[in-house]
Amino acid sequence: MNATWKPTVEQLKRKRRRRLLLCVVLLVAAGLAAMLSCSLPSDGKTSLTATQTPASQPAAEQSNPVALDQPTPSPDSSGHTILSRTIAEGDNLSAIFDSCHIDQTTLFAILAADESLLALDILRPGNRLTFKVEESSGQLAEMALYINPAHQVVYRRTDDTSFESEEVVIPGTWENQIIEAEIDASFYLSAMAAGLSEQEAGNITHLFKNKLNFSRDIHPGDRFQIIRSLQLVDDTLTGQSHIEAIRIFARNHSYAAFLFSDGNYYDEKGESLARAFRRYPFNGRHRISSAFNPKRRHPVTGRIAPHRGVDFAMPTGTPILAAADGEITRVKNHPYAGKYVEIKHDGQYLSRYMHLSRVSVYRGQKVKRGEVIARSGNTGRSTGPHLHYELHIKGRAVNPLTAAIPTATKVPKNQLAEFKQHVQRFMALLDNGDRDFVGA
Ligand SMILES: [Zn+2]
Repeated sequence: MNATWKPTVEQLKRKRRRRLLLCVVLLVAAGLAAMLSCSLPSDGKTSLTATQTPASQPAAEQSNPVALDQPTPSPDSSGHTILSRTIAEGDNLSAIFDSCHIDQTTLFAILAADESLLALDILRPGNRLTFKVEESSGQLAEMALYINPAHQVVYRRTDDTSFESEEVVIPGTWENQIIEAEIDASFYLSAMAAGLSEQEAGNITHLFKNKLNFSRDIHPGDRFQIIRSLQLVDDTLTGQSHIEAIRIFARNHSYAAFLFSDGNYYDEKGESLARAFRRYPFNGRHRISSAFNPKRRHPVTGRIAPHRGVDFAMPTGTPILAAADGEITRVKNHPYAGKYVEIKHDGQYLSRYMHLSRVSVYRGQKVKRGEVIARSGNTGRSTGPHLHYELHIKGRAVNPLTAAIPTATKVPKNQLAEFKQHVQRFMALLDNGDRDFVGA
C-alpha cells in the first residue's frame, strides 16, 4: 500500500500565482483582519484573553492566515477591546458569552443574525470566536467566527438590538492526492488504513451500493485508486476535502466514479451513481409562502436579509420526506430556525428542513429518498405553520425549485463532451499517477 502526494513544479508555480490573487482577497478582508488579528490563548484552551497591545501578537498572526501581513490598528485608537476564545470540547455559546461579560440579549441578537447560516450551531473544538467590544459602552460591536482558514462568519451590529451576518469564504487552492492500496479484509477498512476518513470510506461504499456488493464482489488482493482533493489557503490545509475519482479493480470487473462539475458522481460512461432527488420534500402540493431570495431586503431595516430557502405553508404535522438518500448530519433546536434536520447526500449536496414540530431521525442515521424524517411545525421564529426547505450544492444555498438537481440519471447530452474530457484527465492521472504527481 502506498499513498503519495507531492505537487509538481508546475503545480507549485500555479499555486504561487493563485497566492497573489489570494492576497487581493485578503486585502478586501482587511477590515475583518483588523479584528481577527487579536491574540489567541497560547495553550489553545478556553482561557479568555484581552488584547491590549497589537505588538504582542506574533504567535496569533502565524496561526491566522487572514491576519498575515496585515497592519494591526491599535485597539485604543478605535476604542475597542478584542477578546478571543478558542472552542474546546464541551464549550457552549452561552457560557462563552458569560465569560466575556456579554449579555444573553446580545447572544440572542447574534443567533437571530445566524438564522440563515446556522454556523454557530456546530462549534467544533479549534474554531475561534473573537469579540470586538466598544470600550466606552461595553457593547459588542462585532463578533467573528473563525471556522477554518477558508471560512469565517462576521456578525456586525447594525443598531441597538440587531446584528447582520456576513460569510467570508476564501476559495484557496485545491491539490490532488492519489491514494492507492490493495484491499485486505474489506474495502472499508483498507480505505481507512490508506488514509481516508470513516465518513469518506462510508460515502464511497454508499455511492457504489447499487453497482457492487462489497462483501460478495470484492476479495482480498483487489485494488482501489482514489483521487482526493484537499483545500489549502496560503499553504495551510483547511481540513476541507472531497473525493474526485474512485476506481476499484475487482477480480473480473472494474468500477469507477467521477465527481462532475454539477456536484454529482457518474461512472465513466456518464451514468449517474446517485439516485435522483425529489423536487419537493413532501407529498402533495403546498403553497410557497416565501420564495428563495439571497438578496432579500428586510422590510423594516432595508438591509440585506437573505432567504436561503423556500417556505411552504402547510399544516403542522405534515410528513416531511428526505429529498434524497443520505446521512443525517444535524438534528437541532435553534431559537429562530426551530427544530431542524440536516441531511448530507451523495456528491456535494446537503438539505435542511426547519421549524419542524417533531423529528423522527437521529444524527448519523442513514435515510432513503422519500423516507419520513419529521413532521412540519411552527417552531422557532415563525409566523405560521410552514416548512423552510434549503438545498446546498458545494456549500452554497441554491434555489431548490430551480437548481439542477440530479433528477436525471445521466450526464445531460450537451455536457457529455465536457464530462468525457474530465474523465480522461482523471483516468490519465490514475494511470500515470507516479509520473504526474511525484515526477517533479
Ligand atoms: Zn424561510
